Amino acid sequence: MTDVQQYAFDYQCPEQALANRVILVTGAGDGIGKAVALDLARKGATVILLGRTQEKLEAVYDQIKAEGGAEPAMAPVNLEVARPQDYEELANLFEKEFGCIDGILHNASILGEITPIEQYGYSTWETVMQVNVNAAFYLTRALLPLLMKSDDASVVFTSSSVGRKGRAFWGAYAVSKFATEGLMQVLADELENVSNVRVNSLNPGATRTAMRALAYPAEDAGTLKAPSDITAPYLYLLGPASTGITGQAINAQPR
Ligand code: NDP
Repeated sequence: MTDVQQYAFDYQCPEQALANRVILVTGAGDGIGKAVALDLARKGATVILLGRTQEKLEAVYDQIKAEGGAEPAMAPVNLEVARPQDYEELANLFEKEFGCIDGILHNASILGEITPIEQYGYSTWETVMQVNVNAAFYLTRALLPLLMKSDDASVVFTSSSVGRKGRAFWGAYAVSKFATEGLMQVLADELENVSNVRVNSLNPGATRTAMRALAYPAEDAGTLKAPSDITAPYLYLLGPASTGITGQAINAQPR
């Protein structure tokens, strides 16, 4: 195990470690994204909550405010249909509001079909690639100038075990996660030594969420970690403890 991986597992985030950082989380209304957004706010971050279901974003917003966190921002965006121009407009809004962005957690994804390639639906394939890959590229590209303005920015892409070793029937989801790892590596290499932006990927591992239940309907969800149990490596990668770490593919849980 690498030192970085061990640090990520063992990380205990100090109080206010994320203070004065503006961090955008996609898919912040539910599952892992929600748990990470709440913990980022608990550690002092100003969180931009991006997701497609306004009511879910509002519930997270209300919880952060009720816990005394910094005023979050909400960005209701459907990654399936948003076009590059929409992300440029968001970037302009964020620039006016915050000046710079200190972190992005690309967390939102969809599963698509669990089925052989031979039968995989064409339009499902395109939708999975749009949400899981293209949208992450559009958002990253639009926000790069704002990340460059930060003294210490971190981009985290969410991977999966099937994005590191392909497995039968995981179709577009697995391929999208390989593409995610590729985007992470290319971007990390481009930005290393010429910017303050680090770029890494994180595989959350089996976690009790709606997506997991969809993928494994017969599983006893009680045996799985809850999203709130696995946030430490996210705080590590998005906060100051990982400054200088880039191009790494990390796991949030021991396998
Ligand atoms: P969930 O399905 O529980 O949550 C996904 C989030 O993404 C939801 O908030 C959802 O919004 C949002 N989202 C989905 N589609 C869109 C869209 N078109 N536009 C905007 N937001 C969208 O998933 P998890 O929390 O389980 O997964 C989080 C990440 O972790 C994903 O990248 C997943 O691939 C990865 N992962 C998860 C594992 C697990 O065991 N849970 C294992 C390995 C990887 P809404 O709630 O409104 O639908």
